[in-house]
Amino acid sequence: MAAERVNLLDFDREQLTRWCDSLGEKPFRAVQLTRWIHRNLESDFSKMTNLAKSFREKLEAMAEVRPPEPMREQISSDGTRKWAFDVGNGNAVEAVYIPEVDRGTLCISTQAGCAMGCLFCSTGKQGFARNLKTSEIVGQLFWAERELRREAGTDNPNERVITNVVLMGMGEPLQNLEAVVPAIRLFLDDHAYGISRRRVTVSTSGLTNQMDKLAELAPVALAVSLHAPTDELRDKIMPVNRKHSLEDLMAACRRYLRYAPRDYITFEYLMLDGVNDSLEMADKLIRLVRNVPCKVNLIPFNPFPGSGLFKSDRDTVLAFERRMNDAGIVTTIRKTRGDDIDAACGQLAGQVKDRTHRAIRLVRQKEEAASILNKAEEK
Ligand code: SAH
Ligand code: SF4
Repeated sequence: MAAERVNLLDFDREQLTRWCDSLGEKPFRAVQLTRWIHRNLESDFSKMTNLAKSFREKLEAMAEVRPPEPMREQISSDGTRKWAFDVGNGNAVEAVYIPEVDRGTLCISTQAGCAMGCLFCSTGKQGFARNLKTSEIVGQLFWAERELRREAGTDNPNERVITNVVLMGMGEPLQNLEAVVPAIRLFLDDHAYGISRRRVTVSTSGLTNQMDKLAELAPVALAVSLHAPTDELRDKIMPVNRKHSLEDLMAACRRYLRYAPRDYITFEYLMLDGVNDSLEMADKLIRLVRNVPCKVNLIPFNPFPGSGLFKSDRDTVLAFERRMNDAGIVTTIRKTRGDDIDAACGQLAGQVKDRTHRAIRLVRQKEEAASILNKAEEK
């Protein structure tokens, strides 16, 4: 029965080597299997012609290569594509493919929902169902790359359509390190996807202990969702800040840089009208990040129903950007892609059977958003 089979997408190469060993197979078999699965994107064991027949038979009896099932595809007028994957029990997660001239980026989800409760985030508002398994995280890349290669009419593993991966979809990746680390190792493994460390980015809301863990286990490029320059404001819009203050976060960023493949951290800063977008806020942000080698990415807020928050106007964003750059902090404005299909940052909602006290949380969040806005208007 399918449910009893071992899904090989759950294993990075080291884990696959151990599994092969338990079947009495030599380590080089794990290399061959990894290459078939993650380079050739092959899920049919009978086509893995350089494996011994006896091994193929064992695989057919015990194992499978099963990515999550796509249940919906949407294509934006700008070429961005979004897939919703069924992950069972009424939950769905989303992945977004963003084609650009010189690269193709896949934005991947790591949890069904998110428990961090950021006020401005549509995923956060959905609540939290569960962590994704490695097979469901890697499976998004496996499935999307296979689909895009098929459409491009190539089965050449050296012609990769997806060149960059960002763990910026639904969920907080650092709350699911157990499944995320093997997935990252597969993204990096030359026998698998062979993407360079600089082209794999983890985005976090700022879990400092787990940032240290990531540095130790799978250092890749890091983006940190900052969104506020003071603890007072960040406490309100990102509950995670109540446990990990900005001072701790900046120290964790500096520690991470010793291991990071890039010599800077990307700070993401959402521009929320009347909340964090004034020039005084820019000055505070400059003081905060001055001692961390970084780039700042200003993100236009993507509204969603019931958020109670609004997008900053263009001139305000441009003035903020200028103030930052004038102070020597490299700052850019993120281009919004795929917003006509709700594929833009923070719009991924999928479908989540929340297991937290969602109703209570939503009322509280709405009240908090209203009170932040009132204060902003009083100024
Ligand atoms: N949980 C991780 C990664 C997923 S969120 C994190 O928070 O970093 C990916 C990015 O989208 C984060 O920078 C997040 O702050 C941002 N985001 C959330 N809601 C948004 C919205 N409504 N509009 C624009 N960006 C948003
Ligand atoms: Fe979770 Fe990131 Fe959304 Fe915050 S911004 S609720 S951490 S997905």
